Amino acid sequence: MMKCDASALSAMIAQIFESAGSQSAEAAIIADHLVESNLVGHESHGVVRVHKYVDWREAGEVIPNRHAELVSERGAVALLDGRFGYGQVIGLEAMQLLADRTRAQGFGAVAIRNSGHLGRIGAWAEMLAADGFVSVHFVNTSGYGILVAPHGGSDRRLSANPVAAGAPRPNGPPIVLDVATSTIAEGKIQVARNQGKHLPENAVLDGRGAATTDPETFYADPPGAIFPFGGHKGSGLSFFCEILAGCLTGGFASNPEAPTANRLVNNMLSIAFDPESLAGQSFFDEDMSRLTEWTKASPPIVPGGGVLLPGEIEAKVRAERTANGIPIDAESWEQLVGTARRLGIDPSVYFK
Ligand code: NAD
Repeated sequence: MMKCDASALSAMIAQIFESAGSQSAEAAIIADHLVESNLVGHESHGVVRVHKYVDWREAGEVIPNRHAELVSERGAVALLDGRFGYGQVIGLEAMQLLADRTRAQGFGAVAIRNSGHLGRIGAWAEMLAADGFVSVHFVNTSGYGILVAPHGGSDRRLSANPVAAGAPRPNGPPIVLDVATSTIAEGKIQVARNQGKHLPENAVLDGRGAATTDPETFYADPPGAIFPFGGHKGSGLSFFCEILAGCLTGGFASNPEAPTANRLVNNMLSIAFDPESLAGQSFFDEDMSRLTEWTKASPPIVPGGGVLLPGEIEAKVRAERTANGIPIDAESWEQLVGTARRLGIDPSVYFK
């Protein structure tokens, strides 16, 4: 493991995306989002993705310098088409629109279809919480992302389909729940493979439908599948992500016959509320404080342990890594600097 300074890492990755055809503002947005994922402890959606994004860009599966296009709007609801642009840009533009609508109307819903990979979905909930809004986000992956076996099934039919939700609180970081509906995110299988580690029990099936802890079997031929979390509950939630983000938006539910099945596509339905438009800001703030204090006061089940609220672990990891650097394993580092060098970038300019 080496430790990297977040800003040096961001600068090198921004240069990678600029060399891959993005304008400098776009390159910086993508780099900052990926590095932020590492900063909060979600390596699976961080810099480990750089070489894949560059491959997709070279294959024409993600298109640089694209902006979200308004397809339709009706009342508080807007539909955007990402036109296969980078998800970090499409997601940012969609959240800015959603925040504007929520500020103006007290409530808003923005759907995105045909976006490139939207990365760490909690980032979008954090953005809205920073504006004072409570939000929920349902995502599906209608293309390459078909990786998850439905409860009772044994092969890939659904996607990892994350759900995120965020809420501001008066004194402290926002509450942010950000979970894939698969037992583990595919990126974590990739990280375990890079680090030569085993997977947790009952997370993954091999290509013959038997449970395995070997990350290699997931990428073998025939490929394996990931279990949904919580059996029928996660499977049902994932199915609804397909409906809300895929069927409702026109971005397609997971299906190998879908016209976008040959690329990585994220679709997302985001809904936000201004607390002022419901019970009012002061009630919301007071009740949020009561809720967090009450929940945190539960006696630890394990001595020295205790309750962590959604988003708390990320806030702790962010503080530690901002101070001490981001750990990156040797394999992920080699992939990253290999991509940089291939694009004519000298990593030693950023890391002496
Ligand atoms: P995870 O299992 O690490 O769960 C993260 C969530 O659980 C956070 O809200 C965190 O605060 C909370 N949490 C973690 N430990 C906790 C504890 N001990 N007590 C209480 N709460 C705790 O995350 P995941 O499901 O593996 O997802 C990882 C990332 O992958 C997410 O950022 C997700 O958005 C992203 N993802 C994206 C896509 C996509 O298509 N773009 C697909 C799948 C996953």
